[in-house]
Amino acid sequence: MARITDLLAAGRTFSFEFFPPKDAEEQQLLTRTIADLQPLRPSFVSVTYRGGRVSRERTTRVVVDLLRTTELTPMPHLTCVAHPRSELGDIISVFRAAGLENLLALGGDPLPAEEQYKELEYASQLVDLGRSLGFRSIGVAAHPAGHPRSPDLTSDRRHLAFKMSLADFAITQFFFKVEEYERLREDVAALGVAKPILAGIMPITSLTSVQRMAQLSGYAVPDDVVRRIEAGGDDRAEIRRRGIEVATELCRDLLDAGVPGLHFYTLNFSKATREIYANLGLVKSDGRPDVPEG
Ligand code: FAD
Repeated sequence: MARITDLLAAGRTFSFEFFPPKDAEEQQLLTRTIADLQPLRPSFVSVTYRGGRVSRERTTRVVVDLLRTTELTPMPHLTCVAHPRSELGDIISVFRAAGLENLLALGGDPLPAEEQYKELEYASQLVDLGRSLGFRSIGVAAHPAGHPRSPDLTSDRRHLAFKMSLADFAITQFFFKVEEYERLREDVAALGVAKPILAGIMPITSLTSVQRMAQLSGYAVPDDVVRRIEAGGDDRAEIRRRGIEVATELCRDLLDAGVPGLHFYTLNFSKATREIYANLGLVKSDGRPDVPEG
Protein backbone atom coordinates (compact mmCIF):
# COMPACT_ATOMS: atom_id res chain seq x y z
CA MET A 1 0.00 0.00 0.00
CA ALA A 2 1.24 3.46 -0.93
CA ARG A 3 2.56 5.95 1.58
CA ILE A 4 1.26 9.49 1.05
CA THR A 5 4.76 10.78 1.74
CA ASP A 6 6.00 8.82 -1.30
CA LEU A 7 3.05 9.96 -3.43
CA LEU A 8 3.79 13.60 -2.53
CA ALA A 9 7.48 13.13 -3.33
CA ALA A 10 6.46 11.80 -6.77
CA GLY A 11 4.03 14.62 -7.64
CA ARG A 12 0.75 16.31 -6.87
CA THR A 13 -1.96 14.37 -5.03
CA PHE A 14 -5.75 14.47 -5.50
CA SER A 15 -7.70 12.96 -2.63
CA PHE A 16 -11.23 12.56 -1.29
CA GLU A 17 -12.62 12.58 2.23
CA PHE A 18 -15.54 10.47 3.46
CA PHE A 19 -17.29 10.01 6.79
CA PRO A 20 -18.25 6.54 8.09
CA PRO A 21 -21.92 5.64 7.51
CA LYS A 22 -24.28 5.40 10.50
CA ASP A 23 -26.89 3.13 8.94
CA ALA A 24 -27.69 0.97 5.92
CA GLU A 25 -28.96 3.92 3.88
CA GLU A 26 -25.77 5.93 4.44
CA GLN A 27 -23.73 2.80 3.68
CA GLN A 28 -25.48 2.46 0.32
CA LEU A 29 -24.75 6.09 -0.48
CA LEU A 30 -21.07 5.69 0.39
CA THR A 31 -20.75 2.48 -1.64
CA ARG A 32 -22.27 4.25 -4.66
CA THR A 33 -20.10 7.34 -4.16
CA ILE A 34 -16.92 5.26 -3.94
CA ALA A 35 -17.89 3.36 -7.10
CA ASP A 36 -18.48 6.70 -8.88
CA LEU A 37 -15.22 8.26 -7.69
CA GLN A 38 -12.93 5.27 -8.09
CA PRO A 39 -12.49 5.83 -11.86
CA LEU A 40 -10.93 9.23 -11.03
CA ARG A 41 -8.10 7.26 -9.42
CA PRO A 42 -7.56 9.45 -6.35
CA SER A 43 -4.07 9.34 -4.86
CA PHE A 44 -5.69 8.43 -1.52
CA VAL A 45 -8.98 8.67 0.34
CA SER A 46 -9.49 9.50 4.01
CA VAL A 47 -12.18 8.55 6.52
CA THR A 48 -13.15 10.79 9.44
CA TYR A 49 -13.25 9.80 13.12
CA ARG A 50 -15.53 11.30 15.73
CA GLY A 51 -14.24 9.56 18.85
CA GLY A 52 -15.54 6.77 21.10
CA ARG A 53 -16.29 3.06 20.69
CA VAL A 54 -18.88 3.35 17.91
CA SER A 55 -16.74 5.72 15.88
CA ARG A 56 -13.74 3.44 16.36
CA GLU A 57 -15.67 0.47 14.93
CA ARG A 58 -17.15 2.45 12.05
CA THR A 59 -13.98 4.16 10.86
CA THR A 60 -11.93 0.96 11.22
CA ARG A 61 -14.54 -1.03 9.26
CA VAL A 62 -14.59 1.48 6.38
CA VAL A 63 -10.80 1.81 5.99
CA VAL A 64 -10.17 -1.95 6.30
CA ASP A 65 -12.98 -2.63 3.79
CA LEU A 66 -11.49 -0.11 1.35
CA LEU A 67 -8.08 -1.69 1.77
CA ARG A 68 -9.36 -5.23 1.15
CA THR A 69 -11.95 -4.63 -1.56
CA THR A 70 -10.64 -1.70 -3.65
CA GLU A 71 -7.38 -0.44 -5.10
CA LEU A 72 -7.73 2.81 -3.16
CA THR A 73 -5.21 3.95 -0.55
CA PRO A 74 -7.29 4.65 2.57
CA MET A 75 -6.13 6.86 5.46
CA PRO A 76 -8.01 6.77 8.78
CA HIS A 77 -8.40 9.94 10.83
CA LEU A 78 -7.86 9.52 14.58
CA THR A 79 -8.60 12.01 17.36
CA CYS A 80 -7.32 12.38 20.93
CA VAL A 81 -10.82 12.84 22.36
CA ALA A 82 -12.70 9.95 23.97
CA HIS A 83 -9.81 7.49 24.35
CA PRO A 84 -7.10 7.08 26.97
CA ARG A 85 -3.56 6.74 25.62
CA SER A 86 -3.52 2.92 25.84
CA GLU A 87 -6.71 2.66 23.79
CA LEU A 88 -5.32 5.04 21.16
CA GLY A 89 -2.27 2.77 21.03
CA ASP A 90 -4.54 -0.28 20.49
CA ILE A 91 -6.41 1.47 17.68
CA ILE A 92 -3.17 2.51 15.96
CA SER A 93 -1.82 -1.05 16.30
CA VAL A 94 -4.99 -2.46 14.70
CA PHE A 95 -4.56 0.01 11.81
CA ARG A 96 -0.94 -1.08 11.36
CA ALA A 97 -1.75 -4.80 11.58
CA ALA A 98 -4.40 -4.35 8.88
CA GLY A 99 -1.72 -2.97 6.56
CA LEU A 100 -2.55 0.74 6.71
CA GLU A 101 0.43 3.01 6.03
CA ASN A 102 -1.06 6.48 6.56
CA LEU A 103 -2.67 8.22 9.52
CA LEU A 104 -4.27 11.66 10.00
CA ALA A 105 -3.62 12.66 13.64
CA LEU A 106 -6.09 15.16 15.11
CA GLY A 107 -6.90 16.82 18.40
CA GLY A 108 -10.59 16.31 17.67
CA ASP A 109 -13.69 18.31 18.46
CA PRO A 110 -14.98 18.19 22.04
CA LEU A 111 -17.57 15.48 22.76
CA PRO A 112 -20.31 15.46 25.45
CA ALA A 113 -18.71 15.20 28.92
CA GLU A 114 -19.72 11.54 29.43
CA GLU A 115 -17.94 10.52 26.21
CA GLN A 116 -14.86 12.65 26.81
CA TYR A 117 -12.02 10.52 28.15
CA LYS A 118 -8.75 11.81 26.91
CA GLU A 119 -5.20 11.71 28.13
CA LEU A 120 -3.57 13.23 25.07
CA GLU A 121 -4.47 16.89 24.68
CA TYR A 122 -3.09 17.84 21.28
CA ALA A 123 -2.67 16.31 17.84
CA SER A 124 1.12 16.66 18.12
CA GLN A 125 1.09 14.05 20.94
CA LEU A 126 -0.87 11.68 18.73
CA VAL A 127 1.71 12.15 15.96
CA ASP A 128 4.37 11.02 18.45
CA LEU A 129 2.30 7.98 19.44
CA GLY A 130 1.62 7.04 15.80
CA ARG A 131 5.32 7.37 15.03
CA SER A 132 6.34 5.21 17.98
CA LEU A 133 3.93 2.49 16.77
CA GLY A 134 5.37 2.39 13.27
CA PHE A 135 3.53 4.95 11.11
CA ARG A 136 5.94 6.66 8.73
CA SER A 137 3.37 8.73 6.85
CA ILE A 138 1.39 10.95 9.23
CA GLY A 139 -0.72 13.99 8.36
CA VAL A 140 -2.19 16.73 10.55
CA ALA A 141 -4.90 19.40 10.21
CA ALA A 142 -4.11 23.03 9.40
CA HIS A 143 -6.53 25.91 9.83
CA PRO A 144 -5.85 28.83 7.44
CA ALA A 145 -7.91 31.25 9.55
CA GLY A 146 -6.55 29.83 12.82
CA HIS A 147 -8.20 27.24 15.05
CA PRO A 148 -11.38 28.51 16.80
CA ARG A 149 -10.03 27.51 20.25
CA SER A 150 -6.84 29.53 19.74
CA PRO A 151 -6.49 32.82 21.61
CA ASP A 152 -4.75 34.35 18.57
CA LEU A 153 -3.41 33.47 15.13
CA THR A 154 0.26 33.86 16.14
CA SER A 155 0.13 31.16 18.81
CA ASP A 156 -1.95 28.90 16.55
CA ARG A 157 0.65 29.17 13.78
CA ARG A 158 3.40 28.40 16.29
CA HIS A 159 1.60 25.25 17.50
CA LEU A 160 0.87 24.28 13.89
CA ALA A 161 4.50 24.68 12.87
CA PHE A 162 5.58 22.52 15.81
CA LYS A 163 2.97 19.86 14.95
CA MET A 164 4.03 19.89 11.28
CA SER A 165 7.69 19.57 12.22
CA LEU A 166 6.77 16.18 13.79
CA ALA A 167 4.40 15.09 11.01
CA ASP A 168 4.90 14.55 7.27
CA PHE A 169 2.20 16.71 5.70
CA ALA A 170 -0.84 18.82 6.57
CA ILE A 171 -4.33 19.09 5.09
CA THR A 172 -6.21 22.37 5.51
CA GLN A 173 -9.69 23.12 6.69
CA PHE A 174 -11.76 24.43 3.76
CA PHE A 175 -11.38 28.05 2.61
CA PHE A 176 -12.27 30.00 -0.53
CA LYS A 177 -9.38 32.33 -1.45
CA VAL A 178 -5.94 31.33 -2.67
CA GLU A 179 -4.50 34.19 -0.58
CA GLU A 180 -5.65 32.40 2.59
CA TYR A 181 -3.63 29.33 1.54
CA GLU A 182 -0.59 31.39 0.55
CA ARG A 183 -0.61 33.24 3.85
CA LEU A 184 -0.74 29.98 5.81
CA ARG A 185 2.11 28.53 3.75
CA GLU A 186 4.22 31.67 4.20
CA ASP A 187 3.58 31.85 7.96
CA VAL A 188 4.57 28.22 8.47
CA ALA A 189 7.64 28.62 6.21
CA ALA A 190 8.68 31.68 8.23
CA LEU A 191 8.64 29.40 11.29
CA GLY A 192 11.07 27.06 9.53
CA VAL A 193 8.68 24.34 8.30
CA ALA A 194 8.43 23.44 4.61
CA LYS A 195 6.36 20.25 4.69
CA PRO A 196 3.61 19.81 2.04
CA ILE A 197 0.29 21.53 2.83
CA LEU A 198 -2.63 20.00 0.92
CA ALA A 199 -5.59 22.30 0.33
CA GLY A 200 -9.02 21.20 1.57
CA ILE A 201 -11.76 21.96 -0.97
CA MET A 202 -15.45 22.21 -0.02
CA PRO A 203 -17.71 22.87 -3.00
CA ILE A 204 -20.72 24.99 -1.97
CA THR A 205 -23.92 23.20 -2.93
CA SER A 206 -25.98 24.86 -0.16
CA LEU A 207 -24.82 28.20 1.24
CA THR A 208 -26.45 27.82 4.67
CA SER A 209 -24.94 24.41 5.37
CA VAL A 210 -21.43 25.52 4.32
CA GLN A 211 -21.77 28.70 6.41
CA ARG A 212 -22.80 26.56 9.41
CA MET A 213 -19.80 24.24 8.94
CA ALA A 214 -17.52 27.25 8.46
CA GLN A 215 -18.79 28.85 11.66
CA LEU A 216 -18.04 25.65 13.61
CA SER A 217 -14.46 25.75 12.39
CA GLY A 218 -14.09 29.44 13.27
CA TYR A 219 -14.14 30.63 9.67
CA ALA A 220 -16.38 33.05 7.81
CA VAL A 221 -17.12 32.49 4.12
CA PRO A 222 -15.77 35.68 2.43
CA ASP A 223 -18.46 38.30 1.65
CA ASP A 224 -17.84 38.36 -2.08
CA VAL A 225 -18.24 34.58 -2.27
CA VAL A 226 -21.49 34.82 -0.26
CA ARG A 227 -22.78 37.57 -2.62
CA ARG A 228 -21.85 35.54 -5.68
CA ILE A 229 -23.73 32.49 -4.43
CA GLU A 230 -26.69 34.53 -3.17
CA ALA A 231 -27.09 36.04 -6.63
CA GLY A 232 -28.43 32.59 -7.57
CA GLY A 233 -31.59 33.54 -5.61
CA ASP A 234 -33.86 30.63 -4.66
CA ASP A 235 -32.81 28.53 -7.62
CA ARG A 236 -31.01 25.56 -6.02
CA ALA A 237 -29.53 24.38 -9.33
CA GLU A 238 -28.13 27.88 -10.01
CA ILE A 239 -26.68 28.10 -6.46
CA ARG A 240 -25.03 24.74 -6.97
CA ARG A 241 -23.66 25.77 -10.38
CA ARG A 242 -22.17 28.91 -8.82
CA GLY A 243 -20.68 26.91 -5.94
CA ILE A 244 -18.97 24.53 -8.36
CA GLU A 245 -17.68 27.52 -10.34
CA VAL A 246 -16.19 29.10 -7.20
CA ALA A 247 -14.52 25.82 -6.20
CA THR A 248 -13.16 25.28 -9.72
CA GLU A 249 -11.62 28.78 -9.77
CA LEU A 250 -10.07 28.20 -6.35
CA CYS A 251 -8.58 24.87 -7.50
CA ARG A 252 -7.14 26.55 -10.63
CA ASP A 253 -5.60 29.33 -8.53
CA LEU A 254 -4.16 26.78 -6.10
CA LEU A 255 -2.68 24.66 -8.90
CA ASP A 256 -1.11 27.84 -10.34
CA ALA A 257 0.27 28.63 -6.88
CA GLY A 258 1.97 25.21 -6.79
CA VAL A 259 -0.23 23.46 -4.23
CA PRO A 260 1.12 19.92 -3.60
CA GLY A 261 -2.34 18.39 -3.32
CA LEU A 262 -6.10 19.02 -3.47
CA HIS A 263 -8.23 17.22 -0.88
CA PHE A 264 -11.98 17.22 -1.60
CA TYR A 265 -14.50 17.17 1.26
CA THR A 266 -17.09 15.00 -0.51
CA LEU A 267 -19.66 14.69 2.32
CA ASN A 268 -20.11 11.20 0.80
CA PHE A 269 -21.46 12.57 -2.52
CA SER A 270 -19.58 12.27 -5.79
CA LYS A 271 -21.21 14.69 -8.24
CA ALA A 272 -19.59 17.98 -7.18
CA THR A 273 -16.11 16.43 -7.12
CA ARG A 274 -16.64 14.84 -10.54
CA GLU A 275 -17.83 18.16 -11.98
CA ILE A 276 -14.80 20.03 -10.63
CA TYR A 277 -12.50 17.32 -12.02
CA ALA A 278 -14.13 17.73 -15.43
CA ASN A 279 -13.94 21.56 -15.25
CA LEU A 280 -10.25 21.36 -14.42
CA GLY A 281 -9.66 19.03 -17.37
CA LEU A 282 -8.43 16.29 -15.06
CA VAL A 283 -10.48 13.71 -16.96
CA LYS A 284 -9.70 12.87 -20.59
CA SER A 285 -12.50 12.43 -23.11
CA ASP A 286 -12.14 8.64 -22.74
CA GLY A 287 -13.13 9.06 -19.08
CA ARG A 288 -9.66 8.25 -17.77
CA PRO A 289 -8.02 10.59 -15.25
CA ASP A 290 -5.40 12.95 -16.60
CA VAL A 291 -3.72 14.18 -13.46
CA PRO A 292 -0.85 16.62 -13.99
CA GLU A 293 2.35 16.25 -11.98
CA GLY A 294 2.98 18.82 -9.25
P1 FAD B 1 -4.61 20.48 17.64
O1 FAD B 1 -3.47 20.54 16.71
O2 FAD B 1 -4.49 19.60 18.82
O3 FAD B 1 -4.94 21.99 18.08
C1 FAD B 1 -6.11 22.30 18.84
C2 FAD B 1 -5.93 23.66 19.50
O4 FAD B 1 -4.91 23.57 20.48
C3 FAD B 1 -5.50 24.78 18.55
O5 FAD B 1 -6.08 25.97 19.01
C4 FAD B 1 -3.97 24.83 18.73
O6 FAD B 1 -3.44 26.10 18.43
C5 FAD B 1 -3.86 24.51 20.21
N1 FAD B 1 -2.60 23.86 20.57
C6 FAD B 1 -1.94 22.89 19.88
N2 FAD B 1 -0.83 22.52 20.56
C7 FAD B 1 -0.81 23.25 21.70
C8 FAD B 1 0.07 23.30 22.81
N3 FAD B 1 1.15 22.51 22.90
N4 FAD B 1 -0.22 24.17 23.81
C9 FAD B 1 -1.32 24.98 23.76
N5 FAD B 1 -2.19 24.97 22.72
C10 FAD B 1 -1.94 24.10 21.71
N6 FAD B 1 -12.40 16.58 13.67
C11 FAD B 1 -12.88 15.40 14.15
O7 FAD B 1 -13.42 15.35 15.25
N7 FAD B 1 -12.77 14.26 13.39
C12 FAD B 1 -12.17 14.24 12.18
O8 FAD B 1 -12.08 13.19 11.52
C13 FAD B 1 -11.65 15.47 11.66
N8 FAD B 1 -11.01 15.51 10.46
C14 FAD B 1 -10.44 16.67 10.04
C15 FAD B 1 -9.71 16.67 8.85
C16 FAD B 1 -9.08 17.83 8.39
C17 FAD B 1 -8.30 17.79 7.10
C18 FAD B 1 -9.22 19.03 9.14
C19 FAD B 1 -8.57 20.29 8.67
C20 FAD B 1 -9.94 19.04 10.33
C21 FAD B 1 -10.55 17.87 10.79
N9 FAD B 1 -11.27 17.82 11.98
C22 FAD B 1 -11.79 16.63 12.46
C23 FAD B 1 -11.46 19.02 12.77
C24 FAD B 1 -10.32 19.21 13.78
O9 FAD B 1 -9.86 18.04 14.30
C25 FAD B 1 -10.88 20.04 14.90
O10 FAD B 1 -10.88 21.38 14.55
C26 FAD B 1 -10.20 19.83 16.26
O11 FAD B 1 -10.87 20.53 17.21
C27 FAD B 1 -8.74 20.31 16.32
O12 FAD B 1 -7.98 19.43 15.69
P2 FAD B 1 -6.43 19.71 15.45
O13 FAD B 1 -5.89 18.43 15.05
O14 FAD B 1 -6.24 20.91 14.61
O15 FAD B 1 -5.97 20.06 16.96
